[in-house]
Amino acid sequence: MLEEVLMVKDFDFPVDAYIAGQWRKTAKTFTVRSPFSGETVAEVADSGVAEAQAAVEAAVEAFKAWRALTAFDRAKVLRKWNELLLSHQEELGRLTALEMGKPITEAKGEVLYAASFVEWSAEEGLRVNGEVLQSRFPNKRQMALYEPVGPVYAVTPWNFPTSMITRKAAPALAAGCPIILKPAEQTPLCALYLAKLWEEAGGPAGTLQVLPALDPVPVSKVLMEDIRIRKITFTGSTAVGKILYRQGADTLKRISLELGGNAPFILFEDADLEKAVQFTLLSKYRNAGQTCVTTNRIYVHKRLESDYADALAEAVAGLKVGDPLDPTTNVGPLVEQQGLDKVRAHVEDALAKGAKVKTGGKALGGLLYAPTVLTGIQPGMRVLEEETFGPVAPLMPFEDEEQVIAWANGTDYGLAAYIWTRDLSRAFRVAERLEYGIVGVNDPVPSAMGSNLPFGGYKSSGLGREGGHWGLEEYLETKFVSFLLP
Ligand code: NAD
Repeated sequence: MLEEVLMVKDFDFPVDAYIAGQWRKTAKTFTVRSPFSGETVAEVADSGVAEAQAAVEAAVEAFKAWRALTAFDRAKVLRKWNELLLSHQEELGRLTALEMGKPITEAKGEVLYAASFVEWSAEEGLRVNGEVLQSRFPNKRQMALYEPVGPVYAVTPWNFPTSMITRKAAPALAAGCPIILKPAEQTPLCALYLAKLWEEAGGPAGTLQVLPALDPVPVSKVLMEDIRIRKITFTGSTAVGKILYRQGADTLKRISLELGGNAPFILFEDADLEKAVQFTLLSKYRNAGQTCVTTNRIYVHKRLESDYADALAEAVAGLKVGDPLDPTTNVGPLVEQQGLDKVRAHVEDALAKGAKVKTGGKALGGLLYAPTVLTGIQPGMRVLEEETFGPVAPLMPFEDEEQVIAWANGTDYGLAAYIWTRDLSRAFRVAERLEYGIVGVNDPVPSAMGSNLPFGGYKSSGLGREGGHWGLEEYLETKFVSFLLP
């Protein structure tokens, strides 16, 4: 299939670093491979210290003019960028399938989600109004103004290679902040393509820059140590988020962290079984389970356990696994060997401790892993306690509401949780007690097309929110101005 598909050279865009409005070659390159076929997709610029330093200088320079534009003029560029994203949905979808293995139909859906942040931010930027305040003194006039925080450094993951970028870049740019992006080493191509579209939209030099790098550390060090970079926004693992949090302390950067999860999916005895099965497929097997909000563990009421396990296993066995470029594929490969090894290790650990395979439970060659349902799950198994990040659903029975809430909350993470019930009082009661930033009540994808909604986690799942006015406020400083009248 891959040979029939346009390779990157046919996409007609540079795979260099994008700095100060120029496409720059670097001393070294690194290889981006298809996780499905193992074939080389592109040799991409490998940025280091020199590129990072040049990007900082360009961002500092670009900030002066970009912040001075009216929000209306910034919105014009963002609107154009949005149009270009939408008209290049096919190319971006295909790039996503090629470089990270997301099934093409899903990948094209992600482009719409990515564009929605640009559309939303263009409009929301027009509503950054400031406030005139009441004063305690008759001869004072006082106000709060909002200003862009300054040049921003963004680090993004591979699992949503377009939307995790626009979720940061669009509000930053709308607020008046230039942004320097270091995309995940697995998925630099979508990032570069977005930069090309930004350039085409008329985005001024230095406002959006992309530094692809195989080793994130040297680039990151330059950006984290420079006091002129006023904000770091990161999406990725909790371990790396903590490193950046510590590093940001020396220059007191504003920080937003979107980190890992361990989402519980609680199926109460009155849940609609048929819908719950369909929704489990969406919440668990989308992107081969490699989403931060993916259901990681399923607690099912004892009365439903057996029927649900049978129906789920049957539906899961019907998922088509394979080539991400085939529009009928439901589940593609894991992104890399490390991911596959983790999935295997979690399943082996569960089986060694008494779990049973209801369906799947094995690798299928390459980086493919069979969509899996496990039963007989008990506390102490890694599938319950860690983020598996793969197409594995562990089912654990429960009987008591209090008990299941305690289990659901018994993790350091707090990103997304799901509950299934037809009892409205229970829905409110449980949703309020779950220590999570996002709760889906009979809703498997609460954040779908959610550019206007708050997205973010409690506890070790992060700091701050993306999306909606919350997302834009992360890029604003508040300035208080007081006028004493003569
Ligand atoms: P990762 O933390 O390994 O990598 C994320 C990014 O950080 C990459 O760009 C990587 O190059 C960079 N990075 C790694 N080490 C670094 C360092 N020492 N200094 C600076 N940058 C460094 O995560 P991943 O495996 O790419 O992504 C999967 C994780 O992301 C999962 O835990 C998932 O839950 C999380 N995630 C969270 C959200 C959210 O919104 N909360 C969304 C998507 C993914």
